[in-house]
Amino acid sequence: MKASLPRHLLLSTLLALALLHPALPLTVPSKTTKTGVTYPTNFISKIIADRPDPTPVCMRFPPEPNGFLHIGHAKSICVNFGLNEQFNEDGVMRTNVRMDDTNPLKESPFYVDSITKDTRWLIGKAAFPNKIMSTSSYFDEIYSCAEKLISNGLAYVDDLSPDEMRELRGTLTSPGHNSPNRDKIPTENLRLFQEMTRGEHPTGSLTLRAKIDMSSPNLNLRDPVIYRILTNTTHHNTGDKWNVYPMYDFSHPISDAIEGITHSLCTLEFEDHRVLYDWVLDSLTQSCGHSFPTRPRQIEFSRLNLKYTVLSKRKLIQLVEQNHVEGWDDPRLPTLSGVRRRGFQPLALKTFCSRIGVSKTDSNIDFAELENVARETMDKTARRAFVVVEPLKVTLTNYGLDGEEDFNMARHPKDESFGERKVPFGKHIYIEESDFFDGENPPKGFKRLVAGGKVRLRNAYVITCQEVVRDENNKPIELMCTYDDRTGNGVTPEGEKRVQGIVQWVSSSSSVTCDVAQYDRLFKAELPGSATGDFLDDINPDSVSIISGARCEPSVQADCLEHLDAVENAEGGGADVYHGDLHYQFERQGYYALDSSSSREKLVFNRVVTLRDTWGGEAAGKAKQEGGKERKRGGGGGGGGDEVAKDIERVSFVAAQIKSAEQHPDAEALLICKVDVGEEEDRVVVAGLAAHMSCEELTGKMAICVANLKPSKMRGVESQGMLLGVEDGGGDFGGLLEPPEGAGVGEVMKFEGFENKPDTMMKSKGAVKAFERVVEGLRVNREGGCESGEQAAFVSATTGAAVTSKIKGGNIR
Ligand code: ATP
Ligand code: MG
Repeated sequence: MKASLPRHLLLSTLLALALLHPALPLTVPSKTTKTGVTYPTNFISKIIADRPDPTPVCMRFPPEPNGFLHIGHAKSICVNFGLNEQFNEDGVMRTNVRMDDTNPLKESPFYVDSITKDTRWLIGKAAFPNKIMSTSSYFDEIYSCAEKLISNGLAYVDDLSPDEMRELRGTLTSPGHNSPNRDKIPTENLRLFQEMTRGEHPTGSLTLRAKIDMSSPNLNLRDPVIYRILTNTTHHNTGDKWNVYPMYDFSHPISDAIEGITHSLCTLEFEDHRVLYDWVLDSLTQSCGHSFPTRPRQIEFSRLNLKYTVLSKRKLIQLVEQNHVEGWDDPRLPTLSGVRRRGFQPLALKTFCSRIGVSKTDSNIDFAELENVARETMDKTARRAFVVVEPLKVTLTNYGLDGEEDFNMARHPKDESFGERKVPFGKHIYIEESDFFDGENPPKGFKRLVAGGKVRLRNAYVITCQEVVRDENNKPIELMCTYDDRTGNGVTPEGEKRVQGIVQWVSSSSSVTCDVAQYDRLFKAELPGSATGDFLDDINPDSVSIISGARCEPSVQADCLEHLDAVENAEGGGADVYHGDLHYQFERQGYYALDSSSSREKLVFNRVVTLRDTWGGEAAGKAKQEGGKERKRGGGGGGGGDEVAKDIERVSFVAAQIKSAEQHPDAEALLICKVDVGEEEDRVVVAGLAAHMSCEELTGKMAICVANLKPSKMRGVESQGMLLGVEDGGGDFGGLLEPPEGAGVGEVMKFEGFENKPDTMMKSKGAVKAFERVVEGLRVNREGGCESGEQAAFVSATTGAAVTSKIKGGNIR
């Protein structure tokens, strides 16, 4: 949404989403199970509940071991294991994990191991099956099924090349044509198939095809290949035993039936394959006399898609193999290994999966939903501790004690079972650099420390800043303060005013240095690749920042050393203990977990989530950018609660003149405009106007330019602003929004009744969301005046004249 075209796309996507999104608030919860997850009823649970014979249900999770599992797979795991929990009241686990390992070219034990580990982590050791199933262990039976089909005239060996086969297959609108090999007699087919199996034909020379119907409207039924030759290929389970391998579509229904699966749940892309699966099982049982323990019923549900990330093994492999990330467990990845390392707990994922629900409607869920759940669950499970990420030294000049004193604090404010921790306090401490405002005029509502002012050190004393010691660049390097010894443990002396600002601190001698990794989204576009076709174009270059030199209180170090021992011992003994199991709420900072790169010498913490949603949701309380550095918000741990600018005060809308416009060389819809916003140099603004206005029409025109968005590349050209357009009544482009008559270039627009306090640059997620909310709310009223959703009219900051449009009653885009 950095310039007009994506914004426009975004709006239409949002609209579409609003229509398609399954209700995120839960439907009526049907059952809360032992594991603490509430399962809402959904169409699958209804089907299962209504089964005629209430015998136990058997499901399976069938990954192909050709990549790491991601959060999409978590949905599938949770659906399958969740239904087991709900419907098998005897507590017996009848959900299998089955490696659908029919393609040795792409599969490996490396992936089998990761899938096993990740699934086990997610559902927990107790619920995890003792034995991992694999399709390859059924190869003998699957092979005999193939021979039976051949003997019964239901399959034939073909020598067509893939191209020839494609040619004869026909299209969605035209029927296919029979292969010349289709009517070979069964004995001939059987002989050839057995030769294939013995390795007497080279890879790719022959295939076995099911004989179904070349004119079926469903292309999957046009004699699909069910076996192929792969000679000289070693399978991780069966070694060199086989020269032929069943195709997924053939082995999958057979494996389900062999395993006694009652409900075979899969994602919607397999809907069109269901008739083929039915054909395979019907043919084998009815025409070939084969018997299976069950006849699985397939039910399809929609895939999970997450905004600002990719859920596709192929794309994830690309990110890993091309070193865009550190590895499969990079904490920015949506892989289960990645989110585990980041510090997301299994309960958060399970709760998230139950909340997004199960339906047949495609959904594209905001990652923030998962973060919300993580916050909710970690609030209950995270120990509290003090960490100062960017330390500023404070010396308490009147502190008499030579050594340190300890303050006892609860490890969890709401749960006594967590016990207490000792936090040492002394003459020299650190506070967060951003908790001190250096200057005469702190922002309105800033309640933390200023020169001459007071602040409360959380659970300790009130201090007063007497003097600021500076380096040669005038930067504060130490605060000389006095403390009030009557105020220990949070006490406010009688008759005195409560000090409002509260900050966390650590003692300088006993705190421990650590690294803190702050993560941002891995992609900067909601649908990575939607603009350019290549998802890699949308990688966010600022998705991680590692801060070394943070300092944590000593109790954290003690916990970590103990936990590192536990992890080390667990790895030997095979139990399930991960670094990220140790997680904290670092007060006023966010939820953090121990990273797997930690050592006894150096602790590293990953930020799992911030304390509050910085991407949106709450109108106020957004982090404000200043000089490119994000100031921490107060309030999270009972501290500051600084008031910051409202959304609509943060955006810089400037009267601008378009000096020139030219066609973008690589994008038909885009124009590259030179725009004067009253700065020394014109800005380059890429706008999706080509279909609506000619370059001549645009040249010289006045417009409103959003001037404090982070520049973004649009098809290779960096756009440094965004022009606002108006939709006519029918949703089509109706013209540019124009500043009031007579407005000068560079003149700033604001909303009536609000101040104009634009961010230097709207770069953080919170800022981007704030901007989106503002544009979302913009409308042109019936008089042509432009208003925000809050009814505040858009006016020139200097003259107060209203910004109007010729179009009356349209949206802004
Ligand atoms: P990808 O599309 O990421 O490459 P896949 O579907 O090929 O994944 P499989 O190993 O075949 O991966 O998936 C195992 C199971 O997980 C299948 O039943 C599949 O339907 C399900 N699954 C995969 N991705 C998702 C998703 N995004 N949402 C829900 N279920 C999923
Ligand atoms: Mg698949």
